[in-house]
Amino acid sequence: MQKIDLHVHTNCSDGSFSPADAVLEAKRLGLKAIAITDHDSAEGCAEAMRTGDKCGVEVVKGIEITAKLGTAIHILGYYIDETSSEIYSFLKWIQEDREKRNKKMAQLMADDGLDISYERMCEKYEGIIGRPHFAQELVDLGLAYSVNDAFKRYVNKGCRYFIGRTVISVDTAVKMIASAGGVPVLAHPYQYKRNDAELRELIEFAMKNGLRGMECRYSGYSEEQTRYLENIADEYGLLKTGGSDFHGSFKPHIKMGTGISENLSVPYEYLEKLKQAVN
Ligand code: AMP
Ligand code: ZN
Ligand code: FE
Ligand code: FE
Repeated sequence: MQKIDLHVHTNCSDGSFSPADAVLEAKRLGLKAIAITDHDSAEGCAEAMRTGDKCGVEVVKGIEITAKLGTAIHILGYYIDETSSEIYSFLKWIQEDREKRNKKMAQLMADDGLDISYERMCEKYEGIIGRPHFAQELVDLGLAYSVNDAFKRYVNKGCRYFIGRTVISVDTAVKMIASAGGVPVLAHPYQYKRNDAELRELIEFAMKNGLRGMECRYSGYSEEQTRYLENIADEYGLLKTGGSDFHGSFKPHIKMGTGISENLSVPYEYLEKLKQAVN
């Protein structure tokens, strides 16, 4: 079976691999295709596609947008045209909002006497800066053992250095992706800790606004959980997608293509169906 990974982050957001290196990693692992799905940015896609053309890995353009319905919900958008006017202004605005939040977080840390400078961070990290980068800085300062540890102690909601950012609603996110010609997909549904009725409520609400698919295969999801999600997707006529949520060294336990404990496997057939849905 030819394998793919439809959820990969690069250093255009909070992954540690450049877009080109992410594609070369996919090639090394024998993956037929990957989607680049950075947070709030599609900037890595062009470089990834150029590398993919050279080395024979199919690269799908994607994006991941944080939205909310009660809790934070992530929506993936495949094949979007990021230059289309509405999403273009949204991405600009969300990046400005992040920038303001980031400056506040850096200030809080500096006020505590930590050697953190936002300007230095901007030079060090190439793309969208978020909490994972602050977590990495705290690791580098010897204040945490790992990015995950830094999240738990310093930057998760409720922690000393947490500052929220503006998050749009699920209906807005789904509609915006659709209006940019993209295919909106609900990311990692188990992350929202919803029971069956609550998950269905989310799906039905999002579908009314244009949701087309659901990420049924994901790092750490058991076979049983995957089967449950795939049955729901079939029931609602949603496309099934799957990906690892690879972040390189920011989430070192996740391997591209195979996820955690190598138990992830996404067939190329999922991408074929996704492509048919675009036109
Ligand atoms: P932000 O959008 O800047 O508030 O950062 C949120 C992002 O941090 C999420 O989209 C995740 O990719 C990442 N994240 C959340 N928890 C962790 C964690 N424990 N370790 C590494 N990355 C995390
Ligand atoms: Zn991330
Ligand atoms: Fe996500
Ligand atoms: Fe992700």
